[in-house]
Amino acid sequence: MIGLLLVLQTAAATMAAPIPTFIVVRDGGAIASVPVTIDVGQPSVRADALMRAMRGVLITSTNLHYTLSLPRARIDLIDGIPFAKRDTLTIPLTRAPQVRGGQLYLPFQFVTDVIPRYVGGYVYDPALSELRTVTAVASRPTASIQSASSTPVGTATAAPPVANRPVTPQPVFRRPPVRKTVVIDAGHGGPDRGMTGPIGSPAWFVEKDVTLSVAQKLATVLRARGVDVLMTRTTDTLIALADRGKIANSNHGDVFISIHVNAPGYNTAAAAREKGFETYFLAEAKTEDERRVQDMENESVKFETGANAQKGDPLNFIITDMAQNEHLRESSDLALTIQNGLIDVHPGPNRGVQQANFAVLRGSYMPAVLVEIGFGSNQSEATYLSDQDNQRALARNIAQSVLDYLAHYQSRVGGTR
Ligand SMILES: [Zn+2]
Repeated sequence: MIGLLLVLQTAAATMAAPIPTFIVVRDGGAIASVPVTIDVGQPSVRADALMRAMRGVLITSTNLHYTLSLPRARIDLIDGIPFAKRDTLTIPLTRAPQVRGGQLYLPFQFVTDVIPRYVGGYVYDPALSELRTVTAVASRPTASIQSASSTPVGTATAAPPVANRPVTPQPVFRRPPVRKTVVIDAGHGGPDRGMTGPIGSPAWFVEKDVTLSVAQKLATVLRARGVDVLMTRTTDTLIALADRGKIANSNHGDVFISIHVNAPGYNTAAAAREKGFETYFLAEAKTEDERRVQDMENESVKFETGANAQKGDPLNFIITDMAQNEHLRESSDLALTIQNGLIDVHPGPNRGVQQANFAVLRGSYMPAVLVEIGFGSNQSEATYLSDQDNQRALARNIAQSVLDYLAHYQSRVGGTR
């Protein structure tokens, strides 16, 4: 949570200064201007223009990866991911870098915070809208300012010199929402049916239908209790695993809950008797059984093709893993609260809280859990899970646990401020 608080504090500090229409980059004797563009109320600068002004280079790689290569440092970025990386250090961003019209745009935080803090040798002076090398003399530019942008964006480059520039205060950073947003992910969908059961009879139980039904009931209860809900799917469609987390992130969810139905890894009479509920949070899978569930749920990747498919990129995994690690403690708390909340309503047994490395949880930058609400492979449990009243009871108790968790989490965050 420390990283997030830092971001919020930085945002608050930056809010005091109005956003300029362009900034001046003063590198020793060289002076260049970089336009600031506003997109949906959010200021940003073009990465190529900023790099030119700083005598650096923007390197475009495959898979939406970019590198800001500067004399003193290299910063790695991914389009749409709100984290930057310098060497082994992960830097949380207020917003993700974004490609618009074929150009990479960096959040204004790069100018005010990321470059001064993580590149070194630069300070940002909000009074002059000037990013300068620390050895350079701080003064208003007298020489004609040469635009660093080869293709000017809007009218930004035509703005008057710094001192005469009209000051138009703009809302900069979105304040943290007072209402909480819970992201509900109904497991599987479309051609990916999930598990089918029960063992020993024609497959009348289909996981993707039950997960959607329970997810919708959970959404209904949470909305009635004043919580905003975002569902990764509301119909029988396939959402790529990587996209499920992305949907959650781009909508600023506070909690991510994925609903699934369990099945054993084999079709024997003993396996057919397996039943009970368990809740997972993200971590390396620890036991053979945890690994089985992890592999089963990650199987969905094989249904994904093309742009939706998971890219096996090491940096991507490092960044997402580190982002998720910050929420490990919260995720395990949330998992325990949900698991305990189901004891009253579920026939059981209580299989406890487990750890696994689910692809669906890996992409979400918030406390994230996966609930296996029972075994569809078991005759009696498949019947139990198919019943609408039972689904409503499960949804109600999960919702209560989420509310308890959010209230507890709120008080803890409030206490550290
Ligand atoms: Zn599943």
